[in-house]
Amino acid sequence: MNKLSNKLSNESFPKTIDVLNSSPVYDASSKKDKINLIRKLLKEKDAKIIAHYYTHADVQEVAEITGGNVSDSLEMAKFGANQSSKMLIVAGVRFMGETAKILNPEKKILMPTLEAECSLDLNCPAPELLEFSKKYPDRQIVVYANTSAEVKAMADWVVTSSIAVKLIEHLNKKNIKAIWAPDKHLGRYINDKTNADMKLWNASCIVHEEFKASSLMELMKANKDAAVLVHPESPKDVIDLADVVGSTSQLISACKNLPNKKMIVATDNRIFYKMQKAAPDKILIEAPTGGNGATCISCAHCPWMAMNNLDNLIETLVQEKNEIFIEEETRKKAFISTNKMIDFAKTL
Ligand code: SF4
Repeated sequence: MNKLSNKLSNESFPKTIDVLNSSPVYDASSKKDKINLIRKLLKEKDAKIIAHYYTHADVQEVAEITGGNVSDSLEMAKFGANQSSKMLIVAGVRFMGETAKILNPEKKILMPTLEAECSLDLNCPAPELLEFSKKYPDRQIVVYANTSAEVKAMADWVVTSSIAVKLIEHLNKKNIKAIWAPDKHLGRYINDKTNADMKLWNASCIVHEEFKASSLMELMKANKDAAVLVHPESPKDVIDLADVVGSTSQLISACKNLPNKKMIVATDNRIFYKMQKAAPDKILIEAPTGGNGATCISCAHCPWMAMNNLDNLIETLVQEKNEIFIEEETRKKAFISTNKMIDFAKTL
C-alpha cells in the first residue's frame, strides 16, 4: 500500500456527537410544518430530494414522501440521471452531489451543506493518486464512488460497493490489473474474493473502521440467534465474523430475507430507518464500536451525514444555495468513468 495518503488524521475530522449536539431537534408539530414547507418548495422549484440511507430519519422521510429517493450511492446516481426535474437536492456528502452534477450537467444540483465531506474522499487527493498511478502505468485505475470529481476524471472506472467485486472479477477475466482507491478495507475484501492483482490505496472510512471484532464476538455470544450483517468498508476481522457482507442496499435485503429474527448490523446506524421499514418484525442491534483503541469519532454514525437536517434543506431550497459546480473538462472526463459504472451495473 502507498505511503502518500492518510495525511489527514482522525483529529482533523468532526465528531458525530458534536455535530448532533449542535443540530436542531423538532417536536412533532414543527416537524410537520417543516415537511409541508419542503413539499411546497420542491413543487415551486421543480426539485426532487435524493437522500442517502445514512442521513437522519427525518431527511429520509421527507425525501420518500415527496417523490424523491432514499438509497445507496449507485441508486442515488441512477435516480438522479432518470429525473426530468430541473433541480436535485442531494442530502448526503459532497461526492454524492458531485456525482449528480457529473451525470446531470443541465440540472441545478444543491446540497443542504457543502461541509459534508467523507474521510475516503479527503484522504485521496487527485495529485497524489496521479503520482501513485504513474508507478503502475500498465494498470487501470478503479475508484470507489467516494472520491472527488477530479479523481473520477483520472479513473478508468468508478464503482460502488454493490458492484465492486463484480467489476474486478470482470477485469481479472480480461487480465486487466487494477489500482484500487481509496478504501483499503474494501480493496482487501475484493482482493480476497477475486484473487485479482490489485495495488491498494491506503484510506479508510472513519465510521466502519471503528467496528471492533472482539466486542462483536461478545455481542454474538449474547445473541447466538442473530445474523451478523457487515459493510465491506469494515476491518477484515469484523468482516470475517459476518453472515452477510454487502452494500447498504444488500444489507437491507438480507435483513428482510434472512430467517433470523435478530440482526447485528455493522454499518452507519441511520440505516435502521429503512431496514426497520423493510423488515418491521426484526430486532436490529448495533454492532459495537467500543473496546480498546476506540476513538469513537463516529459511534456508528457518520459526522458528515449527520450535518443534513430539515432546516438546512429548507434554507437550501429557499435561497438556492450550496450549488455544486465542476469545471467542464473535469466533468466530461468524470462522466465517462461514472457512466461506465451505470452501464456495467445494467449488465449484472
Ligand atoms: S460513512 Fe464513511 S464512507 Fe460514508 S460518507 Fe461517512 S466517512 Fe465517507
